[in-house]
Amino acid sequence: MFPLFLFGYIAQFLGFFFSRFSFFILLFAFLLVSFFGYCSCHISPSQVIMPSNDFVRTVSRSFRVLVIGGSYGGLSAALALIDLSQGRLTRFNYNADAEAPTHRIPIQITVVDKRDGYYHLIGSPKALASEKFASEAWTRFQDIPGLRSPNLSFIQGSVSSVDFNAKEAQIVDAETKNSRTEPYDYLIAGSGLRRSFPTVPQSLRREEFLKEAREHMTDVKKAQDGIVIIGGGAVGVEMAAELKILYPEQKVTLVHSRKRLLSSEPLPDDFAERVDSILRDTGVEVILGHRVIDTTAVETKNGTRGWNLTLSDGRQLKTGHVLKAISQTVPTSTYLPKEALNEEGYIKVHRSLQFSGAIPNPEHHWAVGDLTEWEGIKRCGGAMHMGHYAALNIHQHMMAECTGGKPDYQTLQPFPAVMGLALGKTAVSYTPGEGTREGEDLMKTLFGKDMGHTICWNYMRLGEAC
Ligand SMILES: Cc1cc2nc3c(=O)[nH]c(=O)nc-3n(C[C@H](O)[C@H](O)[C@H](O)COP(=O)(O)OP(=O)(O)OC[C@H]3O[C@@H](n4cnc5c(N)ncnc54)[C@H](O)[C@@H]3O)c2cc1C
Repeated sequence: MFPLFLFGYIAQFLGFFFSRFSFFILLFAFLLVSFFGYCSCHISPSQVIMPSNDFVRTVSRSFRVLVIGGSYGGLSAALALIDLSQGRLTRFNYNADAEAPTHRIPIQITVVDKRDGYYHLIGSPKALASEKFASEAWTRFQDIPGLRSPNLSFIQGSVSSVDFNAKEAQIVDAETKNSRTEPYDYLIAGSGLRRSFPTVPQSLRREEFLKEAREHMTDVKKAQDGIVIIGGGAVGVEMAAELKILYPEQKVTLVHSRKRLLSSEPLPDDFAERVDSILRDTGVEVILGHRVIDTTAVETKNGTRGWNLTLSDGRQLKTGHVLKAISQTVPTSTYLPKEALNEEGYIKVHRSLQFSGAIPNPEHHWAVGDLTEWEGIKRCGGAMHMGHYAALNIHQHMMAECTGGKPDYQTLQPFPAVMGLALGKTAVSYTPGEGTREGEDLMKTLFGKDMGHTICWNYMRLGEAC
């Protein structure tokens, strides 16, 4: 488990790139932590310190932490905070000079998520194409060994509002549909972006998700006259390659309105061209520079439903199934007052990840992951890295609260434009340092055998007792 992740790190050092978005960021983590070192907090002896039998003492204050979103960002923050509060270096620390905290802090972390479990989002193109992978991709929180801790509890529900002044959140419970008030000392917002199907499944429970994935696979298998995927962004190209590999008999067509695939990504042309040629070699038909302007349902001869698509050049495409992979992402921040958000709904943050809008109690409000207003391509690696840093900084603030000292925050830099794509059996990556690379070996390095699921799982140590 550990060596696998370490391999990711070492690979970074050797110039490999782990995943589309992720492990370049982890290299970043390593370099930043190495550079700044870990800031331990020095506590003067006072009545806030309770004696204990070992060298790590326990402060008498306790803190409640509410984490919104139990995915890469939220879980990383929660787990790193548990490590620190128990007087350990965080599981994400790779700085040999870092020193463990000198004091334990009693904390109670509540994670609230709409879903009943951790879903490996980046594996969606494969999870929605393969039953086996679907089953692995979603694990209920209660079934994850690494989340079983007396300091950590989960609520399945949706946060509907937050009161910065009172430090309270309203949560609509998924089971009872009743609203409850959850008080907190620290809030970590990590609820990501809303994405439509089939970019991500819409189910909120594991069993429903497996059904949703099965129905999707049936539609794909049954489709007469092939499948058309609309949208040649990162999700569309991965989905097209995955479906062609898993269902080689099926005709798979990818239609993209621009003359270049991945046209909205800040990446060079040769990266997009390499993706294009791999898709064509895999057997995907790629149509560029034409929009789908009409989609009409038709009855086929055997009574099943099909579709007639009209492209902007007047061309007609007959197909049995249409998948829209046009990523219209919307921040899930509707539960937050607008002072905390930018015009698009992303949370305004300082480089420390503390809320930077004009709100009450900003030092008790933190944000991680896709929901933050942050430069660079959104990635799960970035979200986990932010989770780690938010935890370090919140821990600093807690210690300062106990001692009257001043927190020493660590800061994050903008993410570089890097990407790695899983295209069936091969991967393509771009980093500013190495340019464009591709290959089956690269696929193993970046994604392993399961679209990075094991790598993320092991990195967060979800399989180990907490
Ligand atoms: C198809 C696809 C492929 C991708 N591939 C890669 C890749 O290869 N590499 C990479 O690094 N990144 C990839 N990404 C991007 C990556 O998935 C995101 O950057 C990452 O998921 C962000 O993590 P997060 O924790 O910020 O948010 P999310 O993973 O989006 O999680 C947010 C969580 O918050 C919950 N939530 C939302 N609203 C509420 C609410 N009101 N109350 C309670 N809970 C709520 C959700 O249920 C969810 O569990 C991909 C994305 C997609 C869609």
